[in-house]
Amino acid sequence: MTAARTALVIGGGIAGPATAMALRKAGIEATVYESYASAADGVGVTLTIAPNGLDALKVIGADEAVLGIGQPLVRGQMCDGRGGRIGDFPGPAGLPPSRGLWRDELCRVLHETAEAQGVRIEYGKRLVGAEESPDGVTARFDDGGSATADVLIGADGIRSTVRGLIDPRAPEPDTTTLLNFGAAADIAVPSDRESSYFVFGRRGFFGYWVQPDDRTAWFANLPHDRPLSSAEARETSKADWLARLRERYADDVPCRDILARTEADDLVVLGSLENMPKVPTWHRGRMVLVGDSAHAPSSSSGQGASLAVESAVQLARCLRDLPDPRGAFAAYERLRRERVEKVIDRGNKVNNSKTMGAFAKAMMKLMMPVMMRTVLNPEKTLGPEQRHKIDWDAPVAPPEGAAV
Ligand SMILES: Cc1cc2nc3c(=O)[nH]c(=O)nc-3n(C[C@H](O)[C@H](O)[C@H](O)COP(=O)(O)OP(=O)(O)OC[C@H]3O[C@@H](n4cnc5c(N)ncnc54)[C@H](O)[C@@H]3O)c2cc1C
Repeated sequence: MTAARTALVIGGGIAGPATAMALRKAGIEATVYESYASAADGVGVTLTIAPNGLDALKVIGADEAVLGIGQPLVRGQMCDGRGGRIGDFPGPAGLPPSRGLWRDELCRVLHETAEAQGVRIEYGKRLVGAEESPDGVTARFDDGGSATADVLIGADGIRSTVRGLIDPRAPEPDTTTLLNFGAAADIAVPSDRESSYFVFGRRGFFGYWVQPDDRTAWFANLPHDRPLSSAEARETSKADWLARLRERYADDVPCRDILARTEADDLVVLGSLENMPKVPTWHRGRMVLVGDSAHAPSSSSGQGASLAVESAVQLARCLRDLPDPRGAFAAYERLRRERVEKVIDRGNKVNNSKTMGAFAKAMMKLMMPVMMRTVLNPEKTLGPEQRHKIDWDAPVAPPEGAAV
C-alpha cells in the first residue's frame, strides 16, 4: 500500500472532527460522515475535558474554542448526602484545571472549528458497509450513496459499525441497570464555583456543579430493574422519570433541591450506562478505530473525550510518518493501547465505588485521610493521565518488523 492521502472519517461526535483536523494538519484530506441530520443539539449531558485533552486540542488548533465554553473545575469534592464531606480531590499540581461542559456545545465548537479549518462534514450519512480494493476503501451509506478514499476511520462511538466491519467477532458494549440522566436546574446551590461535587447519597450517586449562569448542571444514575436503550427510556415521559428521581434522592442534600428546581422538559434521558469490554482488534487493512469505538472508558473516568482527541492526534502522526497505512495503524495501536486500557481500568474502579453499600461508604469516610495520602493521591492516580503530552513534531518510529 502507498501512503494515505485521503480519509473517510465515520462519525461526527468528538473523535470525528478532531481526527479530521489532525489529519489535515498531517497533510491528509479528510471528510467526516455523520449519521444524524445535524450537529448534536441537546444530545448528551455534561462531560469534562482533562488537561491532557486540552493539550491534544491545542495540537489541532481547537483549544481556544473549547476554552471559550464551559467552566474550569479545579477540584472534585465527595459528599455523603447529609451535607458532610468525605474527601477532596484537587487536580495534579501545576496543570490547568479540567473543563466542565455540555457535550452538545463541545460537538458544536469542534464542528465549527473543523469547518473553519476546511474540513467537510456531511450529515445524514449513516455508514452501513465498506469494501476494500487494492487501491482504496469504499464506504456505503444508508441513503444509497458511497465515498472512496485511501483509508476509513471509525470514529462512530461505543456502538460502532466500523468495529464490526474490522472484526465481525468484536465485542459489543454491556448494558447496565443504571440509567443515566442529567439537566441544568434553575438554582445555584451553595458551592465553591470551581468544584464538581460527587454525592454518595443514601440510595444513589449524584454529581453536580454550579455554572457561571447560576444554574446547577447535574447528572444522576438511577438503578432500574432491567437495562433500557435510550429509545426505550424515552418511552416513559420526562415528568415520570423526574418524579422517580425526586423520590430516589428525597433524603439527600442538595440533590433534592436541585431536582425540585429542574423542569421536566429540560431532563436529558440517556438510557443505560454501558460498559465496553476491551476491543482486541483496532484495525484491519485500510480501516481503523479511534475514540469510543476502540476505547470507551466509563464516564466516571472523566477521560472519554480527552482520550478520543489524543488518539485522533496520534493516529494522524502515524499516518503522516509511516508510508503504509497498515504500519501506521500498528504504530498507532502501540502508542495508544496500554495508556487507554489503564484509564479504562481506573474508571471501572470508580464505578464500583458509586454502587457501594452503606457499610463500605462509612469505611471509606474513615479511611479517607489515609487513602488521600496513598492510593487516592491525585499525583499518583491522575498525574500519569493528565500530564500526558503529545509531541506532534517528533517522528513516529515504525513498529518492529514492519516493512518501510
Ligand atoms: C448521543 C450521545 C450522548 C452522549 N452523552 C454523553 C454524556 O452525557 N456524557 C459523557 O461523558 N459522554 C457522552 N457521550 C459519549 C462521549 O461523547 C464520548 O465518550 C467521547 O466524547 C468520545 O467521542 P466519540 O466521538 O468517540 O464518540 P461519540 O461522541 O459517541 O460520537 C460518535 C458519533 O458517530 C456517529 N455515528 C454512529 N454510528 C454511525 C454510523 N454508522 N455512520 C455515521 N455516523 C455514525 C454518532 O451519531 C456520533 O455522532 C455521548 C455520546 C453520544 C453518541
